[in-house]
Amino acid sequence: MQESELLKQGLALPLMEAFYTIQGEGRYTGHSAYFIRLGGCDVGCVWCDVKDSWDVSRWPLVRIEDMVEEALQYPGRLVVITGGEPLMHELGPLTKLLRAKGFQVNLETSGAHPFSGEFDWVCLSPKKFKAPHPDIYQRANELKVVVYHRSDFAFAEQHAARVSENCVKLLQPEWSKSSEILEKIITYAKNHPVWQISLQTHKFMNIP
Ligand code: SF4
Repeated sequence: MQESELLKQGLALPLMEAFYTIQGEGRYTGHSAYFIRLGGCDVGCVWCDVKDSWDVSRWPLVRIEDMVEEALQYPGRLVVITGGEPLMHELGPLTKLLRAKGFQVNLETSGAHPFSGEFDWVCLSPKKFKAPHPDIYQRANELKVVVYHRSDFAFAEQHAARVSENCVKLLQPEWSKSSEILEKIITYAKNHPVWQISLQTHKFMNIP
């Protein structure tokens, strides 16, 4: 089968990097996890800290069996699929295989592309630069809004109105702005207790 067909069917995916670490943010903060970072993103966040991921052609296509085999080398059984924007790719075969091997499979996505795959936990982190696909809202277990500017609180509320009632709602300071914005986030969360605060603890721990 040609590489383009393997990619289309989700049997091989562009792999930017994969590593075993501690999940630093969101609901699974502090859990050991194997991260699979897929290449390709067309969202274009100005503050993106993984801009190298954007050009999908830079990253080798890796067969999903090889990705799963590598993940099995580590003791943790939580996998986080991230990017880039992982939903640019067909994620059904990879997520099915991971689950068949006993992994919990979590997704981190901006939601900007149609959904694929079978996940145990979906973290939706919507971005102003490209709106989420409407399908994602009812699938989201966690809504994580990166706060870069005061106007982001209104943006957060727009998306919170669309997710399910039991979706965890998190406000996370954008790392480079955290000294300016954190106080506003604390005040906002105290006044709007449906929101919790998420910090990028991996950056404090200096781990990937
Ligand atoms: S969606 Fe994620 S990878 Fe894509 S530009 Fe935004 S922060 Fe970067």
